[in-house]
Amino acid sequence: MMNSVTMTNSPSTFLARGRALEPAALVEETLRTFGPDLRVATSLGAEDMVVLHLVARASRTLGVAPRVFLLDTGRLHQETYDHAARAEERYGLPIEVFFPDPLAVESLVRKSGVNGFRRSVEERKACCGARKLGPLARALAGAPAWVTGLRREQSPTRADVATVEIDEANGGLVKVNPLASWTTADVFRFAAESDVPLHALHAAGYPSIGCAPCTRAVQPGEDARAGRWWWESPEHKECGLHPRGIGRVVS
Ligand code: SF4
Repeated sequence: MMNSVTMTNSPSTFLARGRALEPAALVEETLRTFGPDLRVATSLGAEDMVVLHLVARASRTLGVAPRVFLLDTGRLHQETYDHAARAEERYGLPIEVFFPDPLAVESLVRKSGVNGFRRSVEERKACCGARKLGPLARALAGAPAWVTGLRREQSPTRADVATVEIDEANGGLVKVNPLASWTTADVFRFAAESDVPLHALHAAGYPSIGCAPCTRAVQPGEDARAGRWWWESPEHKECGLHPRGIGRVVS
């Protein structure tokens, strides 16, 4: 695909306009503004697949491909790898996989054990730090903006997610969350109507999918993140990829 986008918007113009746009238009405007340096995070869960669907559509319209990335912690489900291959085939956008620093992981495991993350919030955050935050920093290096599938409804820790933010935690780049206001029903309705391929574990009761040892199916009525780090209290259930209270909300 040719990267032939015409940069019609400056980032400041984009920030002013972003909040008024619906998800599809916002994704297209984001790609038009930031071009091939734009990063798109994907965990391959339903929200991220809807975002990938919108990104692929915008990419075809504009003739420009952003960089889609997946953080491979080394502890993902086999179904996630299978779904990554399916998503690449369906949308024609390569998924760049970022791995943790092997020395950092070796050091962590020697100190804490292979499942040390179950012992305390601190040890769990150390594992997420080594396996996710290091690779995220490399995935975002040099990026002017990134796109995520974050939604406010997902958990108490995400209740203040904005459609467009300045991501101070990652050096002040623009962070776009097109589905911030969508409900779970909105996500699955759009996916069904648009024939978006979904991760096999959703059908097995997993609304949110992360690392295999830290993710399980939820019971009816539980919130979407209840199956993530289920041994911790809800206010701790973040891995540090999306810290709240640091970003400056602009819409
Ligand atoms: S989700 Fe679990 S296994 Fe994955 S990086 Fe965090 S603590 Fe480690």
